[in-house]
Amino acid sequence: MTDLPPFTRGLHDLGGGCHAWLEPPGGWGYANSGVVLGTDEVLVVDTQNDMALGTALRAAVDGVAGHRAVTTVVNTHSDGDHWNGNLLYEGARIIASEATVGEMKAMWLEPDRMAELARDDTAFGRFIGWRIATFDFIGWRPVLPTESFSRSKQLLIGGRVAELVEVGPAHTRGDTIVHVPSAGVVYAGDVLFTESTPIVWAGPVTRCIAALDRILECDPRVVVPGHGPVVRPADVMIVRNYFDFLLEFATGAHRAGKTPAEAYSALDLGPYARWPHASRAYQNILAVYRELDPEFPAVPPPQALEVVLADDDGDWIGGAGCGHTHAAPLAGA
Ligand SMILES: [Zn+2]
Repeated sequence: MTDLPPFTRGLHDLGGGCHAWLEPPGGWGYANSGVVLGTDEVLVVDTQNDMALGTALRAAVDGVAGHRAVTTVVNTHSDGDHWNGNLLYEGARIIASEATVGEMKAMWLEPDRMAELARDDTAFGRFIGWRIATFDFIGWRPVLPTESFSRSKQLLIGGRVAELVEVGPAHTRGDTIVHVPSAGVVYAGDVLFTESTPIVWAGPVTRCIAALDRILECDPRVVVPGHGPVVRPADVMIVRNYFDFLLEFATGAHRAGKTPAEAYSALDLGPYARWPHASRAYQNILAVYRELDPEFPAVPPPQALEVVLADDDGDWIGGAGCGHTHAAPLAGA
């Protein structure tokens, strides 16, 4: 493959047995997945956000698998848009980092609780209402990974090596990237967003930067982000630059004694302002403040999201973005 695939919905062949399932527009709840074909086995990386998206992916996987069996699933992290479709792979090994499994157990919410949250007259409440109306959870239930690991793990998928590398805590506590060296492909999960603003739930931001460096160390040909178009390594640097910029800005604001809200309102994103979901910068500023000052009181995710979502109001679906609709939207760092 010489050209990058277009950012259109469906399965795209990346060469070397690797495919990317892309889910535009890549906004809240619209995540990418990966499919790796070995001689007689298939690995799926991330299983989509709901029954409809998950079923579409599963049909595409079965279509490309031919005689091969789908033996293995990896969940890159604990956000629901990356593992809610696990129930469509029961019987396969489902693998995630130990920290990710811990977050999954703590995070998901019962549908009744979601409906209750949606009644709140807040941006967060409206977001939950939008999520309930937009995504299909009829017949859904959480299916947790069957295996966990920490640091790293090598898989052999029908003769093809896939390296799991834990790079969290970063976006979440237990982020994992999946590297297929023979194909020069890295599936990055949500430590990489392309063409939209990244969001840092767990942090620290310095580890988000280190996670991007770890992707580049793999010297990949192409990188599949958690949300947005497939990119070359040079484009990973653009996201790294955003974090550098944000870290420097928020560090200066913290030194100047500004509150996160004051810092956020003074923020000029410059070239990054064109990315959808720019208001995620508020959550990212909070992550920097926590990194600089461990005593800085944690802001509960619904409270932080109130700012992020209010500024993003009406554009939750638009543009590529984090898609951080959990089975449990309340969970965070
Ligand atoms: Zn995501």
